[in-house]
Amino acid sequence: MKRAIYPGSFDPVTNGHLDVVERARKLFDEVIVAVAHNDEKQPLFSLKERLNLLQQTVGKIDNVRIAQFDGLLVEFAVQQKANAVIRGLRAVSDFEFEFQMALMNRKLEGNVETIFLMPKEEYTYLSSRLVKEIARLGGDVSKFVPSPVASALGKKFKG
Ligand code: ADP
Repeated sequence: MKRAIYPGSFDPVTNGHLDVVERARKLFDEVIVAVAHNDEKQPLFSLKERLNLLQQTVGKIDNVRIAQFDGLLVEFAVQQKANAVIRGLRAVSDFEFEFQMALMNRKLEGNVETIFLMPKEEYTYLSSRLVKEIARLGGDVSKFVPSPVASALGKKFKG
């Protein structure tokens, strides 16, 4: 059984994340989309809300499972019997931090490989941060996120 973890904040999940999930699930028997608690990042959506939105969007896909994790990613990977971590690479600007993290994770746990997947070009400019900014300013985000996420953003910023 080849299992991979796709970790992130998913605050909220975007079409870019979905693209990465679709690619990853073709390469692995099971992909665990793992939501980090990330208290220090002050997320817009609570952990429960982020898990809920993922459940509504990728939750029904055959070989995809949703989980949450706290603490070290590599420890979670070992505990889940996963030998790969999936990360998305959008642009060179993602690279430096991702490279550092991948090498550190390898130092911590040599049996877990980090695999980078590139999304469709049209998603390379897409980030949860920008989507939140657009929604906050009243813009239309329906092209960038699944519809349950667009409604959730609408509710957050209403009034
Ligand atoms: P984190 O806090 O871990 O950066 P994110 O939810 O922002 O969490 O991202 C999770 C992963 O998804 C990261 O590897 C990020 O590079 C990737 N990702 C985010 N947006 C996109 C996108 N539009 N296309 C491809 N990968 C993406």
